[in-house]
Amino acid sequence: MSKTIGSPGVPTVKVSPRGASRLKDGHVWVYRSDVVAANGVPPGSLVNVADHRGQPLGSALYSSSSQIAIRLISREPVADFAALLRQRIADAVAYREPIVRDTNAYRLVFSEADFLPGLIVDRYNDILSLQILTQAMDAQIVRETLISELIRRLHPASIVERVEPRVRQLEELPPRPSGLMQGKKVSTIFAMNGVQFHFDALEGQKTGAFLDQRENYAAAAQYAHGEALDVFCYQGGFALHMAPRCSRVTGIDSSRPALEVADQNATLNHAQLNGKEIEWIEANAFDLLKDYSSSGQRYDTIVLDPPAFAKTKRDLDAALRGYKELNLRALKMLRPGGILVTCSCSYHVSPADFLGMLADAARDAHRVLRLIEVRGQSKDHPVLLNVPESAYLKCVIAIVS
Ligand code: SAH
Repeated sequence: MSKTIGSPGVPTVKVSPRGASRLKDGHVWVYRSDVVAANGVPPGSLVNVADHRGQPLGSALYSSSSQIAIRLISREPVADFAALLRQRIADAVAYREPIVRDTNAYRLVFSEADFLPGLIVDRYNDILSLQILTQAMDAQIVRETLISELIRRLHPASIVERVEPRVRQLEELPPRPSGLMQGKKVSTIFAMNGVQFHFDALEGQKTGAFLDQRENYAAAAQYAHGEALDVFCYQGGFALHMAPRCSRVTGIDSSRPALEVADQNATLNHAQLNGKEIEWIEANAFDLLKDYSSSGQRYDTIVLDPPAFAKTKRDLDAALRGYKELNLRALKMLRPGGILVTCSCSYHVSPADFLGMLADAARDAHRVLRLIEVRGQSKDHPVLLNVPESAYLKCVIAIVS
């Protein structure tokens, strides 16, 4: 059968009618429960995908352990996998040329949304930070192809791999440490919207910074004024962008190492800050907001950018309670005319859930909220419309009266 479909020599995985219709609807994943035949398919291989009758559906990367067994990489047969990978990198670079502005730090490859499922590449000035999330992308030949193409197109000083141990476990890949894949440089300075940031490729959370908020920083800075609070500030992304427009800025985070970098970032940007100091407070944001709101502290601008509260669908109710508590307290602390910038990076919390939560919080706080902007992730994190999982960040900017 595999003689008549797909690429010769490539194994075929058959999927159920439900799996097939998911792919025909434009999604790129098939769950293991919808795989009907994958006998002897090696972990992490390129496969032809066919429906239960043998009709071809495209080419995919196969995982033998993940619940997401199939990630489509092309709707066509793939004759030369290495050439396809190189072309995909070229396409990802070209996609960003007209849409990424005022920065030398952005996401260069966003997995499924750049048709390279399981691969994330972030650029921080002259350092590339790479994350491999699937068996297929971990193969040595794939790594070598990706690295040589990234070097050819971007000439980075170095390429660093950031390893998520939990992801490797789920993919049944042997543990490996984060580290340099190419070159020697592990730290640099990057800039976005005219603000500079220190970057240490082997420290910090995620691949180093929250690049998905880049355009939201600039948007928030437009409306920020007066006394501002940046809650869950990490290395100061929002605080540093808002500071030139505000009389006083305080950043709150529970991570001391993050706040140390935030403070170094403030020093780096002292010229724009005109001698203004940003105060960094190490605290649990829930406790601190409770204290501040009950002791009558008032602000003109509050940013809430917590970590993902809903890691799975099951967490949705608890997550919405957490978001509501934070937003309720922030709303109570904002002066009339105050600006709330409130974010959620949980995919499982839909934009409608998030706005509903915010409406409940406004009602309970007896405040009227008018929406100024309902935003998402920066354009270098593209959203594939038929793959809802690729849209995860919500950022609402609203004015309180
Ligand atoms: N706004 C940041 C990103 C925030 S990520 C930026 O734009 O760069 C979420 C942050 O919340 C992390 O820095 C993490 O250290 C912090 N955090 C997690 N739980 C917390 C808690 N309970 N109280 C305060 N900070 C917390």
